[in-house]
Amino acid sequence: MSRIIGIDLGTTNSLVATVESGFPYVIADSEGRRLTPSVVNFPDAESAPVVGIEAQRQQPVQPANTVYSIKRFMGRRGDDLAETEKQVPYSVQYEANGPVRVAVHGRLWSPEAISAEILKKVKQQAEVSLEESVDRAVVTVPAYFNDAQRNATKKAGELAGLTVERIVNEPTAAALAYGLNRLKTNAKIAVYDLGGGTFDLTVLELKEGVFQVLATCGNTRLGGDDLNRRVVEHLTKKIQEAGGPDVTSDLTQLARLHEAVETAKVRLSQELEADIALPFLSIDGFNFHYRLTREELEGLTRDIIAETRQYCARSLADAGIEGKELDQVILVGGQTRMPLVRKMVADFFSCTDFEPVHGNLRVGSEPHEADGPQLNTSQNPDEAVALGAAIQAEILSGGMKELLLLDVTPLSLGIETYGGLMNVIIPRNTTIPVKAGEMFTTAADRQQSMLIHVLQGERERAQDNWSLGRFTIEFESAPKGVPRVGVQFEIDANGILHVLARDTKSGRERVVEMKSAVDVEDTKVQEMVEESVEHAFSDLRARQWVEAKMRAQETLDATEKGLEQCPDEIDAAQRQEIDRLTREVRELLSREDPVTGAGDVDRLKEVVSRLDEVTRPLADAMMDKAMERMLREQGMIS
Ligand code: AMP
Repeated sequence: MSRIIGIDLGTTNSLVATVESGFPYVIADSEGRRLTPSVVNFPDAESAPVVGIEAQRQQPVQPANTVYSIKRFMGRRGDDLAETEKQVPYSVQYEANGPVRVAVHGRLWSPEAISAEILKKVKQQAEVSLEESVDRAVVTVPAYFNDAQRNATKKAGELAGLTVERIVNEPTAAALAYGLNRLKTNAKIAVYDLGGGTFDLTVLELKEGVFQVLATCGNTRLGGDDLNRRVVEHLTKKIQEAGGPDVTSDLTQLARLHEAVETAKVRLSQELEADIALPFLSIDGFNFHYRLTREELEGLTRDIIAETRQYCARSLADAGIEGKELDQVILVGGQTRMPLVRKMVADFFSCTDFEPVHGNLRVGSEPHEADGPQLNTSQNPDEAVALGAAIQAEILSGGMKELLLLDVTPLSLGIETYGGLMNVIIPRNTTIPVKAGEMFTTAADRQQSMLIHVLQGERERAQDNWSLGRFTIEFESAPKGVPRVGVQFEIDANGILHVLARDTKSGRERVVEMKSAVDVEDTKVQEMVEESVEHAFSDLRARQWVEAKMRAQETLDATEKGLEQCPDEIDAAQRQEIDRLTREVRELLSREDPVTGAGDVDRLKEVVSRLDEVTRPLADAMMDKAMERMLREQGMIS
């Protein structure tokens, strides 16, 4: 049977993917590009249409002959179209109750025929790369597409010489790519899809391995392009303020500004600042330089991103569920790489697993019992839909069994943190390949290095998990909590774990390859999981104990310092009470059970909290002293 490819026919970009030896991947063109802009340029009446990046380049020069966002017109009739939808630089023709057509060089094209050009291009890309002819495909569409829009998509496939074996909903494809078909039965998933020009939030329910769309809601006119437009407007003003030309009256310069803004926006998802340099903006040689910060970008675009929340709320209401009932929220669409988008999504859905980690311990000393969904960012948001289409294609060809067994992490992977606890970085059952990381800092003053002890397993205490290896990363000596070490785990398609640790100050880093993270005997995995269930309660107590113990030690240290530096702040009775409580804390700490690694957590928390209370005058006095010292150092008081 011939191969079936997966195609994400997007509004902004299209992708083609396949599965090879159980591994799904996006097929690149001969120049290594994996995204094909969904843009078709008609150079003249005779020549064949040009598709992709070359067509996109022609857009500012030949706006009337260059068709973009054709997906918006698929299967639509004249009277379906909103006024704003008709406002494109190319000619759209329709009769009230008739189909939409695009007129170029005196010829009428149906949206299906134009989409077929895009499909032909990606089909050919697949054929060149795979060195075989391809004539079958799975094509994805938004969940809100109606029958007419789905049929139009199928027709486009046929016009491109493809048998469309199945039309799959984009959010379902994304969920497949994230490996969510293997979640527990009855799992509920939200797919937040913010692309270049469209936004939708779909709630899916997984029942016995099959996804059902419970609700979908969005705005087909809201996306990354709106952010770009906002920044372009802002910079247009800045250029004029700096004595430059009005770029809006020069299409070529405006296109340059758009391109520069796009590049800067993408860079600001990684960095805090991006330089925009546009030399020769006018014939008299005006050069424009601007440093755009992430903060400024966020300030300019926050309201656009916030607009997505109303659709999320509506979708949840339509599905009849609350955000916290979801198991996972997954991200799709290039614009979801923006940190502010991720933060807003995490806040809106009260995602529990999104908290940044500080110290050698998670912030918040209570063990986190998930009462909100996990924000899963483990897959590439631009590629998830195409990969899911390829997986669906492979399932249809009956070739997916091996992948189902191989492409998840059998056990959690993490590092040991201060107090001997396991901090999970990649949870068990995560689809691979995967990349995930967290930021850590030191727990003691003047530390010059951090030991990265890599662990695998499901237990709370480091010593109960398997050790995969350890290495150290060095940095400049600094007070506790100051150094910042980023630790990233990457599991490649072969299941090899690469651990990277980077001191953010010096940029110094170490990368260490660990043994296969997936190659673990089934019986051992089973044993580890069973042990974690069996010891769940005692493990939880051990974690609570370690966390309470660290907090107690901090309070003891602060009390000692306070008594030494501000002894006159308390009277004899208070002093007596402090001594009594300090003794009791020490005694409770000494009564740690060597076998369970735990002690009397509740009592310890109670006594430490009382000690905190009675030492408040000391803490306040220390704070005043520190403030005074600072003001004196700054010359603000004598
Ligand atoms: P899509 O429709 O999924 O291809 O998404 C395209 C949109 O994602 C465009 O608006 C891009 O500017 C945006 N985009 C792609 N990569 C990034 C990134 N790293 N950070 C922010 N936005 C991005």
